[in-house]
Amino acid sequence: MDLKSKLKEVFGYDKFRGNQEVIINNILAGKNTFVIMPTGAGKSMCYQLPAIVRPGTAIVISPLIALMKNQVDQLNAVGINARFLNSTLSKSEINRIKKSTLAGEVKLLYVAPESLTKPENVEFLKEANISFAAIDEAHCISEWGHDFRPEYRRIKDIIKQVGNLPVIALTATATPKVQIDIQRNLQMEDAHIFKSSFNRDNLYYEVRPKKGVKKQLVKFIREHTGKSGIIYCLSRKKVEEIANFLKVNGIKVAPYHAGFEPSVRMKNQDDFLNEEVDVIVATIAFGMGIDKPDVRFVIHYDVPKSLEGYYQETGRAGRDGLEGNCIMFYSYADILKLEKFNKDKTVTERDNALILLDEMSSYAESAMCRRKQLLHYFGEEYSDENCKKEGKCDNCKFPREEYEGKEFVKIAIEAAEQTQNRFGMTHLVSVIRGSQNQYIKSYSHDKLPVYGAGADRDEPFWKSVIRQTLLNEFIQKNIENVGVLKVSERGLAFLKNPTDIMLTKNHDFSDTDSDQNESNEHPRAPAGGKSYDPVLFDLLKAERKRIARDKDLPPYVIVQDPSLEEMATTFPTTSEALGNVNGIGMGKVQKFGNAFLKLIQKYVEDNDIDIEDVVVIKSAGNKSKNKIYIIQQIDRQIDLENVAEEKGWSMSQLLDEIEIICYSGTRLNLDYYLEQILDDDRQDDVIDYFLNAESDNIEDAKYEFEEEDLSEEDLRLMRIKFLSEHAN
Ligand code: ADP
Ligand code: ZN
Repeated sequence: MDLKSKLKEVFGYDKFRGNQEVIINNILAGKNTFVIMPTGAGKSMCYQLPAIVRPGTAIVISPLIALMKNQVDQLNAVGINARFLNSTLSKSEINRIKKSTLAGEVKLLYVAPESLTKPENVEFLKEANISFAAIDEAHCISEWGHDFRPEYRRIKDIIKQVGNLPVIALTATATPKVQIDIQRNLQMEDAHIFKSSFNRDNLYYEVRPKKGVKKQLVKFIREHTGKSGIIYCLSRKKVEEIANFLKVNGIKVAPYHAGFEPSVRMKNQDDFLNEEVDVIVATIAFGMGIDKPDVRFVIHYDVPKSLEGYYQETGRAGRDGLEGNCIMFYSYADILKLEKFNKDKTVTERDNALILLDEMSSYAESAMCRRKQLLHYFGEEYSDENCKKEGKCDNCKFPREEYEGKEFVKIAIEAAEQTQNRFGMTHLVSVIRGSQNQYIKSYSHDKLPVYGAGADRDEPFWKSVIRQTLLNEFIQKNIENVGVLKVSERGLAFLKNPTDIMLTKNHDFSDTDSDQNESNEHPRAPAGGKSYDPVLFDLLKAERKRIARDKDLPPYVIVQDPSLEEMATTFPTTSEALGNVNGIGMGKVQKFGNAFLKLIQKYVEDNDIDIEDVVVIKSAGNKSKNKIYIIQQIDRQIDLENVAEEKGWSMSQLLDEIEIICYSGTRLNLDYYLEQILDDDRQDDVIDYFLNAESDNIEDAKYEFEEEDLSEEDLRLMRIKFLSEHAN
């Protein structure tokens, strides 16, 4: 069985993402499988496709009824028979589903854990031909996780009764402790673990000082009109206040928090999913069960309680792999407020909460790559090279001043070492700064060589140094003992042979207010360049919404944004061309294709679009495989003829590749080459033309310069120069 063609046929996707294919093969081989993948990476496919391919019915255990319904809708929309069993169904509906399952018609049966444990359902499952069991949100098994569900602990028992089924467990969050707990409970210590990177390439992270926030919100949302976004606030009161404020400012917005009647909550959530409103202002109660792939921004109005929470919440942005802006408004006053909330907790709980908050404020105030910091939190080492290159966090995009930190790092490591690797951040800073307090005295730490070695710097400075020492893995967190820092092998090596190391100065967030309407411009998040036809895109989106209403489905079930963008780029006017669009299989063409085709045909006609011409723009959506090579050659000012020859391309093929690079936003300086073939005056003429032309269409340019001795290649080269200088 060719999995890839099945993927294309059913889901319309050209290739597997990340580990999907190996995972699927593992489960098809009947082996226990453990998948740890961040939100949005495509976990569901890991059990959906094998369920479709294997004879019988796969059961999918999932805790959230809303999510279940969502997935079942999506599967039905691509022509797969999926059903769910949960407490929302009537007796007769349940009977119908069971009958159909026993008749072998159902490929995926979603079951809520509390339904799974009912004796009559266990009996039914024993009779059915079950292929394997998938356990989604598997962290619910662990008491150490953030979403513990006691019924989850009984799952393995039931699976054993049903038959000796292979199990695939999936989760988006698993610290090492939770991971072990899951495996033990499911008795799958033997399982192959597929852990993906938690890096979300497409997300842009930014922290802004919390000052004049309301104004910034309106401005940001207006710049992203028509896009979906979530604004998280800590309190219900704030949710309502912000939602009202935005509404007054003409933004389509709905509030959401646990204090509303269920019917109101449901309606507001549906309005968001169905794009009746663009923005939802919510407490963190919102989002657990939603699966909207085209959320374009997640804004934290208030500081979240932990980095883990922050990661999960921001993870709801850009699940379809496209634009996702994550912006947090930070003030230290928020941290102090959160500390106060903890005052009724036990001492241990309070200490743990404090450590989490401390991580949060270090993250916000640090000027190191956000991505590097977040991933470090999940035990992943990340070189920030890519983030720097693409400017995908504020700190990489707008680097802060650096300073030589060799001596400081040395002191930080020594402080941990000389105190026997038994203390946390606060104590180490006290030792380094030569503070007097009871702990220092009782441990005689004022006798250590490192005591007072950094007395001339303040506390925030040393915290920042220690944190960067940690991020560079010279010291490490002690997993058994939260908060304790110990020297690593790498740190010991550094002490023996210290090398130069650049550190970054922290941000100064002292000038923030709690939320007055003072203005503080801080517009940084990218507005998002487009290579598709925005008018057609909006028309397609409206059409999708119409179809969705008609079928009573959320719009993204029909088709997702990346597919619409591709349609607005390639203008498919036949069923075949539409089926070639990534994300659209033949099933979708048959179900929903006609409406889109009609719309595109009309649009193409009305606007006199020559589909042949579109090819260049189309390839702009793709990636140049030779990007790095070409950029290097151009940097070295190699003549383009030689570059083409080296690769065995014609000049025109090389220009195709260069155009892809250029249209994806990279600036290329071809002056060294152009000056050999065109004199300045003629170059100026062509640039002038492009500056005033209605489009950068090459045929139009050829027509304009018909009389001149300019080839199509010359014009394409000049267009690259023009785009590099004026568009990129
Ligand atoms: P998760 O459960 O890991 O949060 P989902 O299973 O909801 O993620 O998938 C996220 C998005 O990725 C969905 O919109 C899904 O359709 C899409 N997706 C999954 N697999 C692929 C693939 N191979 N190619 C393209 N898109 C995919
Ligand atoms: Zn970065």
